[in-house]
Amino acid sequence: MRFEPVIGLEVHAQLKTKTKIFCSCSTKFGKPPNANTCPVCTGMPGMLPVLNKKAVSFAIKAGLATNCIINKESRFDRKNYFYPDLPKGYQISQYALPIAEHGFLDIEDKKTGSVKIGITRIHMEEDAGKLIHDPARQKSMVDLNRTGVPLIEIVSEPDIRTALQAGAYLRKLHAILKYIDVCDGNMEQGNFRCDANISLRPPGQKEFGTRAELKNLNSFKNVEKAISHEIERQTYVLEEGKKVIQETRLWDPVKNKTTSMRGKEEAHDYRYFPDPDLVPLIVDDNWIDRVNKTMPELPHEKLLRFTKEYKLNNYDAKVLTSSIELANFFEKTAAPLKDKKQAANWIMTTLLGMLNAKKIDIDESPVSADSFSRLLSLIEKGTINTNAGKKVFEEMVLSSKDPESIVREKGLEQVSNQSELETMVDEIIHNNPKETEAYKSGKTKLFSFFMGQIMKKTRGKADPKITTQLIRKKLQ
Ligand code: ADP
Ligand code: MG
Ligand code: ZN
Repeated sequence: MRFEPVIGLEVHAQLKTKTKIFCSCSTKFGKPPNANTCPVCTGMPGMLPVLNKKAVSFAIKAGLATNCIINKESRFDRKNYFYPDLPKGYQISQYALPIAEHGFLDIEDKKTGSVKIGITRIHMEEDAGKLIHDPARQKSMVDLNRTGVPLIEIVSEPDIRTALQAGAYLRKLHAILKYIDVCDGNMEQGNFRCDANISLRPPGQKEFGTRAELKNLNSFKNVEKAISHEIERQTYVLEEGKKVIQETRLWDPVKNKTTSMRGKEEAHDYRYFPDPDLVPLIVDDNWIDRVNKTMPELPHEKLLRFTKEYKLNNYDAKVLTSSIELANFFEKTAAPLKDKKQAANWIMTTLLGMLNAKKIDIDESPVSADSFSRLLSLIEKGTINTNAGKKVFEEMVLSSKDPESIVREKGLEQVSNQSELETMVDEIIHNNPKETEAYKSGKTKLFSFFMGQIMKKTRGKADPKITTQLIRKKLQ
């Protein structure tokens, strides 16, 4: 490799408070334009912001969950810039004194193992509004519903070295914010957004190269693709003997390329200064303790518990704890079952396979954890065999019927009646003298032939255990 990539990520996560950060307007998504506004968030002259305490608690929780130090005193600053979606002419943000600093996340890299990614800071700020350009009517409109919605910005150290590490870091951060229930994490609705900063340097060089910033990365896959693409672009620029320009580039997920959006403003262009309308934010130990008491089990803790309590291997436990929804689905499914490992296998192959094929998330699954569990318990009790279980599952996905009625309607109950199966085995041996002869003289591979015949006769419903014993016994 000619150059080493250096990557730092900035994530904006929307805190799931009911009201905005400096006024009592609702944060509800999908309301008619400007329905959720008041003089404060529309920036009327003389308005006074009042800080939302819940938003602060959520920011503290995010800081604690990402190993940050919580600053006892932090401050709100004005970040000045003119843009129609920000009527005040400035955004209230935290600059010199953020609420949390000096954290880290451990991520998994398939090649190098565990990697520690530093978190420089987490600061609170208000979101801006949205411009809607209508080319047909030659008009631009502004929707200020989102203006003043509370955000935290989580800034990573430039510790990331590959596109896949960037993806792993983002997935982990996303999972944690959802575990601790401070952010909905819906990337399509924009409440978890990422900007990626990328530069290259010759291996061994200490100083960082000039970076470009990528915006508009609205899925994990897009982040990985855009970063890989940007690494290639910068490599090409440097190999040509040219210089990378510090700029903001926009990722186009359809054309799979980036285009220059604007030159990068220097920080001092914003003329940050403390907002005179807001007092310094003082957080005492009591407040931090209270937040800490609400901290749920975090992903790495759940992973450890899953390996101990359910005797899952590390890989399975990691997959199943990768999101809170999946972890909950597993625990609900496994609760009434004896064989926890079986529940894990079925979720990781059959259920996740179906979700992948349909390109939907687990919270949109047509099969609930409760009915999935009942399906597995039918298998565990021996009512149906694994084969039939797969068929029942397919039917559950299509019709949302419960597994018991599908088994009844389709007559999928397992044939486990000893004498019934014995008669069938006898008959098959009688009808296939050549294969029987060959098996007895050592061609034991033919076992599957006999098994196949029984399954054919029972339309896949024979109890495989009893059938195996019977075939072995009869062909001795
Ligand atoms: P800004 O707010 O102007 O985007 P910051 O100094 O806050 O700038 O840095 C933003 C992000 O850029 C951080 O995640 C940081 O790790 C990353 N970063 C800084 N310098 C570089 C660089 N040379 N190459 C790659 N990433 C960088
Ligand atoms: Mg930036
Ligand atoms: Zn308001």
